[in-house]
Amino acid sequence: MINLSALKTFLEVPRDILITSHRNPDGDAVGSSLALYHFLKNYNHQITIAFPSEFPAIFNWMKDSDKILIYDMDYEELNRKINKVDLVFSLDYNGLDRIDKMGEAIAKSGKPIAMIDHHLYPDDFAEYFYSNPSASSTCEMVFEFIQLMEGQKYLDQDIAEYIYTGILTDTGSFKYSTSPRLFEIVGQLMSHGVNNNKLQDLIFNSLPLKNLKLLGYCLNQRMEILPDLKTGIITLSKQDYENFDIKRGDTEGIVNYLLMLKEVKLAAFITEQPSIVKISLRSKGDIAVNEICSKHFKGGGHKNASGGASYLNLEKTLKKFKTILEDVPNLSVKEEV
Ligand code: 5GP
Ligand code: MN
Repeated sequence: MINLSALKTFLEVPRDILITSHRNPDGDAVGSSLALYHFLKNYNHQITIAFPSEFPAIFNWMKDSDKILIYDMDYEELNRKINKVDLVFSLDYNGLDRIDKMGEAIAKSGKPIAMIDHHLYPDDFAEYFYSNPSASSTCEMVFEFIQLMEGQKYLDQDIAEYIYTGILTDTGSFKYSTSPRLFEIVGQLMSHGVNNNKLQDLIFNSLPLKNLKLLGYCLNQRMEILPDLKTGIITLSKQDYENFDIKRGDTEGIVNYLLMLKEVKLAAFITEQPSIVKISLRSKGDIAVNEICSKHFKGGGHKNASGGASYLNLEKTLKKFKTILEDVPNLSVKEEV
């Protein structure tokens, strides 16, 4: 980590700290923020957590999650806070443009930033810079950060469970992005009392009935498989959002079902949002979906999980996407002949 010793010195006296993470916070965003929050509390800092938008209710069991401020709603209070704090932590995002207006306010304030993140190609926006694109999750990096800070004695069951949550959600319960180091860390988390069964139920077996019905509808009515391009696509229109009363977070994970098909190497979930069409891509092996998103959809992410946006309508976006697929390396069946 660049500037670790300076950050350590900085954190030796009580500070006013703002922990931030990305829009549509997932388990890694919420878990890493609350793990870092409870860890830093031991140093008598005053700490606030802020996200651009609301986080899913399935993470409400984490202590002090009710204190998290949401920029979309609490922007006046947060603007005051941003101008008052000594340090901003940026967790699980790699550039201030990933947190929209809150990022603009932070940039304008000129406050020092400590970034902890595992996305590829981070922007150069942080005084204290900790980037590791081969880490499974930001939560895994928060575990390492605690070691770097020599704060192991503060790693209790709560912190271990929040870290474990982000690891579970970002690896799809150890399906992707695993490493020998990750399993060592998980071993240590278990010895701090992490209860895997309890967390699996809290995070993955807590779906409201309407979400399961929506999943059924997506697979039965809205799925298209393109065998020649080893691709599966699910699209949802504004009308679908209305009919199923779909809220933010309700569609989480649907894209992964397409990858369950042996012949599918690339999965796309394309949804009509109020002002954009959102693209979510997942892939197996060598198919780099982050390149598709950065080249064509003003987005990015990881090699096997990326997102972006289109400003065309749903139908035109779908057409454009299919055309792009023709040129994606390793995808076309014809290439193999
Ligand atoms: P999701 O498909 O779940 O929205 O996002 C998958 C991954 O792609 C996440 O790691 C997320 O950070 C990244 N991602 C999603 N949308 C965007 C985007 O619009 N821009 C960038 N740079 N990354 C994105
Ligand atoms: Mn993450």
